Amino acid sequence: MKKHNFSAGPSILPREVIEKTAEAILDFNGSGLSILEVSHRSKGFEAVIAEARELFIELLNIPEGYSVLFLGSGASMQFAMVPFNLFEKKAAYLNTGVWASKAMKEAKGFGETIEVASSKDANYTFIPKDYAIPADADYFHITTNNTIYGTEILTDIDSPVPLVADMSSDIFSRPMDVSKYGLIYGGAQKNLAPAGLAFVIVKDELLGKVSRYIPTMLNYKTHIAEGSMFNTPPVLPIYSAMETLRWLKKNGGLVEMEKKNIAKAELLYNAIDNSKIFVGTAAKEDRSRMNVCFVMKPEYAALEADFQKFAQEAGMDGIKGHRSVGGFRASIYNAMPIESVQALVDCMNEFEKQNA
Ligand SMILES: *Cc1c(COP(=O)(O)O)cnc(C)c1O
Repeated sequence: MKKHNFSAGPSILPREVIEKTAEAILDFNGSGLSILEVSHRSKGFEAVIAEARELFIELLNIPEGYSVLFLGSGASMQFAMVPFNLFEKKAAYLNTGVWASKAMKEAKGFGETIEVASSKDANYTFIPKDYAIPADADYFHITTNNTIYGTEILTDIDSPVPLVADMSSDIFSRPMDVSKYGLIYGGAQKNLAPAGLAFVIVKDELLGKVSRYIPTMLNYKTHIAEGSMFNTPPVLPIYSAMETLRWLKKNGGLVEMEKKNIAKAELLYNAIDNSKIFVGTAAKEDRSRMNVCFVMKPEYAALEADFQKFAQEAGMDGIKGHRSVGGFRASIYNAMPIESVQALVDCMNEFEKQNA
């Protein structure tokens, strides 16, 4: 039976990327060696990381004056690296979920940290809009896509201070204006590559301004100076990232990707909105195109486990909601074809016909 992978992360990758990665594991570029056993300083791998960097710049239209880094250890390490490098006196955070508050918790260890707004009291079902960003903050931190709650900031907001964004789960899902950001980071395992890799896009002029000692490995300047090769980078995830970026480019880049993502999200949200038994959890105006969260209406709550089983048996994998929201979450990242979203919608409709 065909499996449809709705997992939140690690998550679906284009089939082609998985196949190309498998080929490189068996024989990297016809070298007779595996990508797993070559030096990260070999010519072959140098070309891979250079192409990945070039494709980041091309696809996201990254202006001059920014560096692109590939680092180990995921997005959570960036929660601390950001303040280490940018926090001098004060930082501001928008609290839109668990990831946002984990990022904010790290900043608090460095000094005065302002929570400009929070939707915690509403279990993060919406993105707060009415807030003021302190003009004397060193930076303002947002989480553009709240993977757990299915809310998303889809515009590149104007900030009077450097804007720092965790884009772990929506990078490359739409064209964006990188020049509005001071720093963008994320874990690769949602929309880019296998786990173990973080990407960072940083405006160079923001660095070197804090007075503290920054441990070598936590200093962005170290990695900029060495082209992400100060130490051994996560070679295999970088290889897969390069293949994903090639796939994105071949398929029309981010303009095309956004069209597909809008169509997929509309298909699924329409099914939820027209359902007798399911209901969405996120505020409509803040709905994520990447993670679609829904629950059973109260009168059908007893059917939750039944639908979970029904969907699993129909090949829908990974739709169980995060424990803090409950219900269901369908992650429909870039690599998810609309046919799989249609299969889920058909499955929901069939279950409704049998049970409502
Ligand atoms: C998954 C996720 C993280 C955590 O990523 P790790 O790479 O596991 O540290 C952080 N932020 C967001 C928005 C995420 O979706």
